[in-house]
Formats: sequence, C-alpha cells, structure tokens
Amino acid sequence: MAPRLSLKGFHPRAEANYRLVAGGLRAVLLEGRDLPPLRSQEVEVIWAPARPNLIYAAGTPNERILLSCGENFPSQFAYQLAHELGHLSARSDLRFPRIDGCMWIEEAMCGAYSLVGLKSLNNLDDWWRENGLPYLEGILQGAYAFGQVDAEYVSARANALCAANHLSDDIQPISGLIFSKIASDRIIEDNIALSRVPVGTDVATFLRAWAKECGGATTTPELLLNLWTDDHARPVGAIEDEPSSAIVELGE
Ligand SMILES: [Zn+2]
Repeated sequence: MAPRLSLKGFHPRAEANYRLVAGGLRAVLLEGRDLPPLRSQEVEVIWAPARPNLIYAAGTPNERILLSCGENFPSQFAYQLAHELGHLSARSDLRFPRIDGCMWIEEAMCGAYSLVGLKSLNNLDDWWRENGLPYLEGILQGAYAFGQVDAEYVSARANALCAANHLSDDIQPISGLIFSKIASDRIIEDNIALSRVPVGTDVATFLRAWAKECGGATTTPELLLNLWTDDHARPVGAIEDEPSSAIVELGE
C-alpha cells in the first residue's frame, strides 16, 4: 500500500491544485512500487517557504517532507515534491550523512524524479498545456540540459560530484541525461534499488553493485558506468563538520 501524502500549511488558494498534483505523483511514483519499509504510512508534506532548502527529514519518527515552493505554483510544487519522494523511495535518511562520495548519484536520481514526475502529470490536460509542459521544457533547456554530459564532463567534475551533498548545478545535467535515456519506470525501480546497495565503497564498485540489484533492461547504473571511466580519487571526508541535527537537508 502506497503511503498517504498529507499536505499541511499550504495556502488555501493553492491547496486544491496541490492535492491534485500530489495525487498524480503518488500514483506514478509510489503506487504499486516495492518500496523499502517506511517510518509511517502517512507522509507529512509541509509548506515551509522561509527555509532555504527542501528537506526530506532524517531522525524523525514519521516520514516528513518540507517544501519551499511558491504560494500557488503547482509546477514548482510538483518539481520539489517529486524530488523529495525520490529520497523517500530510496530511504536516503538511513545513509545520512553520506560521505562515501556517492551522494551525487542519489541526487541525480531525485533530479530525474522531478522530470519523470512532471511529465507524468500530462493527464491534467489544460493545466499541463498551459503550465506543466512549458515548465518542464524550460528546465530541460536550462539547468537540466544534458547535451554536454559525457565521460569527459564527468571526469572533469569527479571531485566536485563526490563532494556534493545536494543537487548541485553539476548534477542537474546528469539527471537530464538519465531522464532522456532511461525509461521512466526503470528510473523509479532503479532509484528504489539504491536502498539495497551497501555504502562505503568507491563509485565504480557502488555502480556495479547497484547494477546487480537492478537487473532487467538498460539500467541507470549501466549508463553511469559508461560515464565513469575509472576510479577517480575520491575525497574521503571532504564533507566535513556535517551538522548533527535531527533534520537533514537532502533537497536542492
Ligand atoms: Zn535531494
């Protein structure tokens, strides 16, 4: 049974639209998926516009997501919520703070979740034509444009990628590439499989172990293995002085 998304604190003007969007994302990203065990069957989705980051909470007894989207901006709400549902579906909180140099992979998948989630809302006909599609096309031509992503791109940014603990500008184009090359269903299943792969290895070892968990047709780890040409030196301990607060900021 997919968890219930419980919207809290949103502006009354936006709530009906946001509920529609949340229901659409839930149907595609969560329903019928073999999710890892969650902390609760209700996911609190809370509007916290004053916060600088989106949050998938770690260390809380219940599943909780904090969003900072505009007051009545369903496309941005979909973009943000899908990202955080990606973290929830892989239970990223169990690996926080992740310092093995592989957090960029989890963020790249959640970036792809935003794109998959937005695209899945194209059944909301009028809204999609007027708002959803232009928003998706805008980010695919902007921050998520993937034309320059190849092995050289990844190699030149290997250290920055391994040090990333959020969806950085370097990672977004990789999300765009995943979205363009891998079927949406496969992206969702591959992301869920992240929860079953041991942490603490180098990137190439991690990608190979992840590929074994995925199986089936062309998978995301295979795509990334083709970009990751060798074992770049990984900056162990590069993410220093992580705050030990009960809440983890996994958003962008
Ligand atoms: Zn994130």
